[in-house]
Amino acid sequence: MSSIKDLNSLSQIIKDEINKVENHINTASVGQVVSVGDCIATVYGLDEAMYGELIVFPGPSYGMVMNIEENNIGVALFGDDISIKEGDLCQRTGEVVSVPVGDSLLGRVVNALGQPIDGKGKINATESRPVEMPAPSIMDRESVCEPLETGIKVIDAMIPIGKGQRELIIGDRQTGKTAIAIDTIINQKNKDVICIYCAIGQKNSSLTQIVNKLKQFDALKYTVVVSANASQSSPMLYLAPYAATSIGEYWMRQGKNVLIIYDDLSKHAVAYRTLLLLLRRSPGREAYPGDIFYLHSRLLERSCRLTDELGGGSITSLPIVETQAGDISAYIPTNIISITDGQLFLNTDMFNAGQRPAIDSSLSVSRVGSAAQTKIMKKESKNLRMELANYHEMLDFSRFGSDLDKATQKILTHGAVLLEVLKQKQYMPLSMSQEIIDIFVVQSGSLDDINPAKVHSILKLLSNYIMTHNIDIYKNIAINKTFSDEDKKTVLSILKDIKDAKINDALVTED
Ligand code: ATP
Ligand code: MG
Repeated sequence: MSSIKDLNSLSQIIKDEINKVENHINTASVGQVVSVGDCIATVYGLDEAMYGELIVFPGPSYGMVMNIEENNIGVALFGDDISIKEGDLCQRTGEVVSVPVGDSLLGRVVNALGQPIDGKGKINATESRPVEMPAPSIMDRESVCEPLETGIKVIDAMIPIGKGQRELIIGDRQTGKTAIAIDTIINQKNKDVICIYCAIGQKNSSLTQIVNKLKQFDALKYTVVVSANASQSSPMLYLAPYAATSIGEYWMRQGKNVLIIYDDLSKHAVAYRTLLLLLRRSPGREAYPGDIFYLHSRLLERSCRLTDELGGGSITSLPIVETQAGDISAYIPTNIISITDGQLFLNTDMFNAGQRPAIDSSLSVSRVGSAAQTKIMKKESKNLRMELANYHEMLDFSRFGSDLDKATQKILTHGAVLLEVLKQKQYMPLSMSQEIIDIFVVQSGSLDDINPAKVHSILKLLSNYIMTHNIDIYKNIAINKTFSDEDKKTVLSILKDIKDAKINDALVTED
């Protein structure tokens, strides 16, 4: 009897177990392509897909969920759309788009998904980070107070940039925007700053040139290049700056300093507009979608300096924006100006007149201000802006009459020499000590009696002479952070000797 009872209970147990097995296949993670074209796939059946989730198509090729509608979802495709056909099955991955991060990326050129495109083989990254991350909260941030030296005299003296700052580089096409960014990267050599150059919508040929220049100046080894070139799909262009930021955040969270260049965000805005128009989102002003401000604010808010408790790392970002005919009050420029902590405005007329870098001091500003400057630089450069403004005012004024009084004449001569000193060739970043001495010399008025055309050769002779005979002056500025009256006197007396032709090239090189 007892064995029949045992069998009954056993069959009950088996029945219960069978009932527990769910009698349905999980179809929520497999969908079907309804239509595909222009790098957008409309997919039916992925009801539970998340915004930003990675979807895998046959191939495999990948896409990101950008639209969630009642019956279908819109997926932005990262590869070409030729290999995907109507009716193809696709699958959720349950993951958001992420990029590999870590030191193995240094010296590499990658696309917006972090895949290498430089032909140097696989990147052996052990970690990855989601492309979209929330910006650090206010409590996690520290104020910007340490300078990030660009090596460009006019910027370090008048519009200083600090670590953790966001400074916009804005100007018409071909005004030297990229040049400033690349020089800043080159100047970070041996300064413990990791650089990321994010190229958005550029030609492959210009990117190759940039990578070659970085290699030539030995700057590629501390730089990562993230590129979404003009021939790639708009989803890749859209993703590139976020991917670059995620790559940088990895180092920032480790307490390191990072510099990111976004070249440029106007092309990024256009790519986003294309993408969303293809997804049939409603267009707003200038056909840009309504969230175009959020597109860039959530990107640039991720640049900051973290508190010491969080390691004190930083991301400094230099976004670039191209204007049309100098119109900085256009839609995208004003948006980004209001997000950043200042802008370097490049003036086309100045550029064409040979005043390069063509930074317009009247329209350029750093809202972090002199907090991001060393004390000596702050002291030496405090009058520059005023003097330049005076010069431009007097120059306009002097066009009306030929009879100028002595004071006006003096302002004009000094201004012309000052502008000459602020000119700087590409790929020639200066050390802080050199910059300070140049500014000190011109501010002392000792160059005012020199033909502006000769100013550069005199300054070169001066720095060469100091380098060979009075290196302590440089050391005092760079290491001890002092520029004593005695050192100043020595500099001026060397300058006098150069002017009196007592020092020439031959004397500089001898020991
Ligand atoms: P685009 O709008 O095409 O991106 P851009 O504003 O980035 O142009 P660059 O490509 O940096 O401008 O520079 C334009 C040209 O000016 C280049 O040929 C570059 O070599 C030259 N140039 C830039 N800066 C300087 C400089 N300081 N001295 C001399 N030439 C310069
Ligand atoms: Mg450029």
